[in-house]
Amino acid sequence: MPSITLQARAKINWTLDVLCRRQDGYHEVDMLMQSIDLFDTLTITLSGKKVDVICEYPFAPNGDANIACKSAELFLDKISSKDGVHVHIKKRIPVAAGLAGGSTDAAGVLVGLNNLYGNPLSVDQLKKLAVLIGADVPFCIEGGLQRAKGIGEKLEKLELKKPLHIVLVKPEGQVLTGNIYNSLDLDNLEFRPNNDRAQKALVEGDLPSLAMSMGNVLRGATRKSCKEVDALCDMMLHKGAWGANMTGSGPTVYGLFENFEDSLSAMRALRHNGVEWCCALSTANECTTII
Ligand code: ATP
Repeated sequence: MPSITLQARAKINWTLDVLCRRQDGYHEVDMLMQSIDLFDTLTITLSGKKVDVICEYPFAPNGDANIACKSAELFLDKISSKDGVHVHIKKRIPVAAGLAGGSTDAAGVLVGLNNLYGNPLSVDQLKKLAVLIGADVPFCIEGGLQRAKGIGEKLEKLELKKPLHIVLVKPEGQVLTGNIYNSLDLDNLEFRPNNDRAQKALVEGDLPSLAMSMGNVLRGATRKSCKEVDALCDMMLHKGAWGANMTGSGPTVYGLFENFEDSLSAMRALRHNGVEWCCALSTANECTTII
């Protein structure tokens, strides 16, 4: 049976700004997103008569409720196929954590199925399908470093000057993205990131300037339900990070470090302090890798 295995990577937000709430309920954003070397492993097999998803993880659903199911159904519909598909997801990306875990699985299914069928759809066609699934899914089709505008579908690919080293920490609890956006008070944002300066800093590899320009307007809303976000950012700075920020709607926080050794020693110190989940990683140039 034709089958493919791929790694679908998580992302962080160097920046996340919300410009306005649209009539249709979506938000216009301006953000710099980055793939990181933390991934779910997907095995996609053409078999059976329907789409079936098995996800090995306590908080992520199996079957129809998994976003990978909608993704496979959309793809099959687009190429007018009646085939059945089995998707097995070995999850490592924490769920509802601001790391686009579901979005990357959805994008991975589109990329994987396209590959299995001999690439009938272009990358642009895949991104058009992706936005029907979720606002972060188009980014996850190619990944790497990109600036995203619109609701996340207007993408500009950028080149990171050099790989960057981060530490991720996730406090206990999960955050639902929709709830955070709905509770956002756009007239009273405490801080906005400087996207143009952050973009320049990433392309030039200027860590101090990047650290000063990073920021996430959702942080204030997430803080209300997850008090640890600020304390974890402070801890990162205390352990030597150039800067620290919340990714997506949180509650995961990352610190930006000078090199891998510094990120490893910060990770060890944070684990010693008893944080729930913590790892040291680098940035990645792409979102999906077929293995
Ligand atoms: P984003 O950063 O794209 O807003 P997130 O990383 O905060 O997303 P997800 O991990 O995608 O959040 O989880 C959001 C919800 O989606 C969870 O409630 C989860 O049950 C559901 N879900 C459905 N399919 C998946 C999947 N394949 N992986 C993770 N969560 C999934």
